[in-house]
Amino acid sequence: MLSNSNLAVNGGSPVRKRNWPTWPPATPAARRALDRVLTSGRWTISGPSNGAKPEECLFAEEFARFNGTRFCVPTANGSSALVIAMEALDIGPGDEVIVPALTWVATASAVLRVGATPVLTDVNRGNFCLSAEAAEAAITPRTKAIIVVHLHHSMADMDSFLALSERTGIPIIEDTAQAHGAIWRGARAGTLGIMGTFSFQQSKVITSGEGGAVITRDEQLFQRLQELRADSRSWSTTPRASDGMQLLPHRGVMGANYCLSDFHAALLRDHLSTLETQLSRQAENAAYLERQLETLGPFRPLRQPAGLARRTVYEFLIEVNRAAFEGRPIEAICRALRAELDLPFYPPDAPLHRSLLFRPESKRRFWMQSDALRKLENSARFPNAEHAAENCFIIFHSAFLGTREDMDDIVTACEKVLAHVSQIPTL
Ligand SMILES: *Cc1c(COP(=O)(O)O)cnc(C)c1O
Repeated sequence: MLSNSNLAVNGGSPVRKRNWPTWPPATPAARRALDRVLTSGRWTISGPSNGAKPEECLFAEEFARFNGTRFCVPTANGSSALVIAMEALDIGPGDEVIVPALTWVATASAVLRVGATPVLTDVNRGNFCLSAEAAEAAITPRTKAIIVVHLHHSMADMDSFLALSERTGIPIIEDTAQAHGAIWRGARAGTLGIMGTFSFQQSKVITSGEGGAVITRDEQLFQRLQELRADSRSWSTTPRASDGMQLLPHRGVMGANYCLSDFHAALLRDHLSTLETQLSRQAENAAYLERQLETLGPFRPLRQPAGLARRTVYEFLIEVNRAAFEGRPIEAICRALRAELDLPFYPPDAPLHRSLLFRPESKRRFWMQSDALRKLENSARFPNAEHAAENCFIIFHSAFLGTREDMDDIVTACEKVLAHVSQIPTL
């Protein structure tokens, strides 16, 4: 039956017409959480006390506990979490920070925002996370940190990075914006390096629309992180008598306002209570899909590092042998699959050195660094990041919230497109 049907991209009948699970999740419990804050008389940690502990503090405690670590400082978004993590280490002008060439732009732009120079470095070919060998080769006397990114549905090889950190004294910051709840040899992603940063932006696996956090087990860093995100103030359990304020000034370090509102925190607390169940289901569906796709031939799952005990599926990425698709560009293959399923399939972002999102020279504030960047990048090539962008496609994690039958539909669509390769329109 399959072989007679036309591809949906050419007007044929699609494999699937049913809806997919929706994202973000709008539940009655989420509505109740918002309502609770609305009438509480306090919408943010920087407002006067209403006698109760702010949702922001409660979420921080619960998220630290979820991760099995001591401290959490919520932030307005994942980008500001990265900024205060670097500020907590006093990273600034003249310093270099190693970041992967394949990541969301914020990993690198946060480095620019603290005045330091991001050193773009290639990823590895197995799971497309930062390569430990490439990172080691990029170290100079100016290197003040390495930001590893746990990308797509994997983790950077933390065994290698922790050994590298031990040998060189260079701290590792884990950008965990895509890997909340993933487990490396028994420890949660974000707790292995000196600090872990998170985003709760709408696309992430736990979300409040916008939001972020830094976690750490180091009490001194915790104190600095608090001041850095709340205009030099930190949280006190006893409100000041005169004005009821609970964020009180400190003589530590000058901060800025990156506070998360209590509406966001309440949504996150609600979502956190079901996160573990959600992540397990998504990981199970992804593993099933991976096994099925592998049997078709041209689809190659990531080679996951040995230490990864449980992955979090943010973007399910799989490598495609394009020779089996007569060499068609990955965008053409994605378009054909999208038409069969009414589900987005897309290639990974372009590596940052050629990304439209990463242009430090366009802002006067970054001119100092753009000189340094140009020097670094004239010699830099990122063959593995380029390979990912040209030979992989991604399925967004909400597709994995449902059933095995949903996964079977994806397999059927891949089979159909593969059986009609010559029909796939080149773009
Ligand atoms: C989403 C994301 C960020 C930035 O988070 P925002 O909340 O959008 O500022 C940083 N790093 C990675 C890898 C991300 O995916």
